[in-house]
Formats: sequence, structure tokens, C-alpha cells
Amino acid sequence: MYDYVIVGAGSAGCVLANRLSEDPTVRVLLLEAGGRDRSPNIKIPAAFSKQFHTKLDWDYATEPEPHVDGRSLYIPRGKSLGGSSSMNAMLYVRGRPFDYDAWEAQGAPGWGFRDVLPYFIRSEDNVRGASEYHGVGGPLHVSEQRSPRALDRRLLDASRDAGIPLIDDYNGPEQDGASMFQVTQHRGQRFSAADAFLRPALDRPNLEVRTKVTVLGVALQAVARSACGSATAVAASSSCAPSERCCWRPARSTRPSCCCCRGSARHRSCATSASSRCTTSRGSGATCRTTRS
Ligand SMILES: Cc1cc2nc3c(=O)[nH]c(=O)nc-3n(C[C@H](O)[C@H](O)[C@H](O)COP(=O)(O)OP(=O)(O)OC[C@H]3O[C@@H](n4cnc5c(N)ncnc54)[C@H](O)[C@@H]3O)c2cc1C
Repeated sequence: MYDYVIVGAGSAGCVLANRLSEDPTVRVLLLEAGGRDRSPNIKIPAAFSKQFHTKLDWDYATEPEPHVDGRSLYIPRGKSLGGSSSMNAMLYVRGRPFDYDAWEAQGAPGWGFRDVLPYFIRSEDNVRGASEYHGVGGPLHVSEQRSPRALDRRLLDASRDAGIPLIDDYNGPEQDGASMFQVTQHRGQRFSAADAFLRPALDRPNLEVRTKVTVLGVALQAVARSACGSATAVAASSSCAPSERCCWRPARSTRPSCCCCRGSARHRSCATSASSRCTTSRGSGATCRTTRS
């Protein structure tokens, strides 16, 4: 049994797998429809488009669009460990501070730029070094382009001549302007989300990764999650081993409430009696699960 099943080992899935499996008391399963990410066309930056229309690509197409003359447009999407971060053009672009702040203003507390910036900084190992906007020592390598085309420099010069400001750091306070891109590469190779977040976690015994597994659907059951002691009438989760089960009878209820407690001897020892109760979960990292019958 797993505490978390993650569908897709792409940018988001690799980060989730890493962060969730930091807790040794939970078991994490990561499922990926594609295979491993060993192809040189993944590692060699200039070869990324050679992945298109291959087994590394979902090879989607839009419905015919009336606004593009009835054509169907090709939509590449990565299909291997790393997902689209194993196929993308590696441009390191966070988004404009203005956009995050607009989300927050529209009712998404915690998504303002000042809220997300610490996470960007914590993720980064930027060759430019640490600053107000950038970090070093994080899992994601961010580099300057090694072999920019001569045309790029000319385009920047032309932009400046046309009055478009040249900005040194488009991931800083303002993105409007012209700039060379930084890239998610390390020593001249692509550095995908799998490289940054999944590989460092692969040795953890509580993380399992399966490739070439396509999830066909997710069946949702009525599941109530609660902290120990606050559940209403529930039946014991079938995923609990007997030694992990704690039950008690809530006030004004004829049915017992039960939950699974893992991760500490204290919880295990309280689990045998039908009237026992989880005593604490604060700070213990224990998992408590209740399932509605
Ligand atoms: C060609 C290309 C160029 C790009 N260039 C850039 C760029 O330069 N800079 C930038 O910031 N962004 C770029 N992007 C976008 C960026 O890569 C994506 O926005 C990002 O990787 C999306 O992350 P995700 O986790 O949402 O999805 P993905 O990384 O696509 O991950 C989804 C994963 O789920 C798997 N999956 C899907 N369905 C199932 C299923 N049923 N069962 C099991 N597994 C499943 C997929 O195989 C995949 O591995 C580019 C994308 C592409 C395709």
C-alpha cells in the first residue's frame, strides 16, 4: 500500500515525488506512461526537436481550428521520465511578478510573487550566484547558454536600437525588455526535473518509480482525512495493518472511529484496544487515515 500515488513523472510529478518521500514514514509510488530518459536526444540540448513524433512524444494535435485556416496544429508533450522537462527548450523563465500578484489579487492567497520567490530561490543552483532573486545550492541547475548564435547578439543590438530596453535579469523584478535566456542545463547537458528532483531521491526505500505504466483512470472513493481524534463515525481503513489501527467511540455515536497511525512507536503501542485513541500527531510525521464506510 502507498500513501501517495503520483500519476506522471513530469515537471510536477518529479518535484512531488521528491518532496513527499522526504518523509520516511510515507510510501510514495510514481507512475510514468513513458520509459526512462536515456536517449541522447534528451541530454543534448540542440537535439531536443529530434524527440518530436517519436516514442518520447505524446504527439498530440489540436482539433482543426477555424482561426488558423482550419488546420490542425502539432502539440508536442514529453513522454518519459522528466515529462516535458525532458523535451522542452530549457529556457529558465519563472513568469512575471505582476502575474503572480494579479492571481493573488483575484483571490489566490499565497500565490503573490513575494510568496513564491523563496521557493524559486530554494530550488535554484544558478551560475550567477546568490542574490535577492536567485539562489545557489538548490537542486535545479541554471546556466548561461554555452553556444548562443551570432544572430542572438544582433537581435539584442537591434532591440536596443529600436528603443526596447536590454535587461540583464528577466527573472528579476521586470520582464519587459530584451535579454539572453538562461537555461536549465548543467555542463552543457539538459538538466530536467528528473535530473534535479527525481534522481536524488531514487535511493529512498519509501519511493518506488514505475515506467511504461499508463494510468487509465482514477477511481475516487468517499474518503475523509482527518487528524487523529477529530473524525466522525468511520470504519477502520482496510489499508491499516492491525498494529497501526487506533479506534475510539466518538461522543453521541454508536459506531467506532478508527484511523491508521504510522511512523512512531507511541502510535503503534496505542493501537490494539478497540477503545484506544491516537494521543498526538503534532510534529510526529505520523499519517492518520480515516475511511467512511
Ligand atoms: C517542445 C516543448 C518546449 C518547451 N519549452 C519550454 C521552455 O523553454 N521553458 C519552459 O519553461 N517551458 C517549456 N515548455 C513547457 C514545460 O516543459 C511544461 O510546461 C512543463 O514541463 C509541464 O510540466 P507538467 O508536470 O505539467 O507536465 P509534463 O512535464 O508534461 O508531465 C506530464 C507527465 O505525465 C505523464 N503522463 C501523462 N498521462 C499519463 C498517464 N495516463 N499515465 C501515466 N503517466 C502519464 C507524461 O508522460 C509526462 O511524463 C516546453 C514544452 C514543450 C513540449
